[in-house]
Amino acid sequence: MGIKAIRAYQVDLPLHEGNYNWSGGKSVSVFDSTVIEVETTEGVTGWGEVCPLGPFYLPAYADGVRAGIKELGPLLLGYDACAIDVLNHRMDAALQGHAYVKSGIDMACWDILGKTAGLPVCTLLGGRSGEEVVLYRAISQESPEAMASKVAKYRAEGYRRFQLKVGGDPDVDIQRIRAVSAELQPGDRLVADANTGWSQHEAMRVVRAVRDMDVYIEQPCRTYEECVSIRNHTDHPFVLDENIDSLGMLIRALNEGAMDVVNLKISKLGGITKLRQARDLCVSRGVAMTLEDSWGGDIVTAAIAHVAHSTPESSRFTSTDFNSYVTVSIAEGAPQRVNGKMSASSEPGLGITPRMEILGDPVLEVR
Ligand code: MG
Repeated sequence: MGIKAIRAYQVDLPLHEGNYNWSGGKSVSVFDSTVIEVETTEGVTGWGEVCPLGPFYLPAYADGVRAGIKELGPLLLGYDACAIDVLNHRMDAALQGHAYVKSGIDMACWDILGKTAGLPVCTLLGGRSGEEVVLYRAISQESPEAMASKVAKYRAEGYRRFQLKVGGDPDVDIQRIRAVSAELQPGDRLVADANTGWSQHEAMRVVRAVRDMDVYIEQPCRTYEECVSIRNHTDHPFVLDENIDSLGMLIRALNEGAMDVVNLKISKLGGITKLRQARDLCVSRGVAMTLEDSWGGDIVTAAIAHVAHSTPESSRFTSTDFNSYVTVSIAEGAPQRVNGKMSASSEPGLGITPRMEILGDPVLEVR
């Protein structure tokens, strides 16, 4: 099933809440997403999506997805879309790094493999574990009072896991964690995600000041070494995210006991194939995972659902339904949150059908 054409579509995804703010004053109001179509010689077409969290979160930016596909795409024509490991070797040989560029192509090929096999991607990834996937809600950075007031609203929508965007002024962040903690009910889980925003001494002050709170600490500082230092000085459950951007870094962090939970994002690692390898390693080592992506719409959300639902339930910490954050639906059939949870589609492949009237004409075609 040779790759005959690769097309990229650009779509803007505005946010219901107007904007999304996190550490260091970073903010996005409209996400720039790229939908990738892979067409095969047999007429089966697969879909993927890549949506960086702006250009200042990971080494990825929206135009870079398109530029990368323009560079890489011609070198993949004729390759078997269903031979996904072979294709990944080809992508890595043809373009060093740029994991996020490869993610949408890899995702589309899983969609093709599933459609060809007549099976949902979650079955191909190991089989559905449990009834549903538990979701978290990110609480965009605002005043402590405003963030605390969001907890009841999101709990009414069914969420019981809350990820606070901190990583700002450490004194205000301490207030943010305290204010939100006061709103928690039994069974809720709270994560304070600094998104690399604290220096080491600031992070030390925060973890000491919230020592009596039941809160997970995620990616407090920029470097792995700084984070490990904080890890070694706190007994809060500890999550690494931005630093774990490759299998090599994951192995190092597992060997050094650097985290209790790891955040694995599809595009950060380079696609479902690479994430699967990392995920299976974490399952074997007993480290729980937040399984998600940097951002996205319906197609990314569908892919997250398949990846998460096929991960043993005991190894899942949480996941994200990005399609509920944005005002534009780019595909039919994507998972819809019900009571803070979602499920992977039972349809073949990713189980989505793009809304071509939303995608418009491709901005790039390789054939
Ligand atoms: Mg994070």
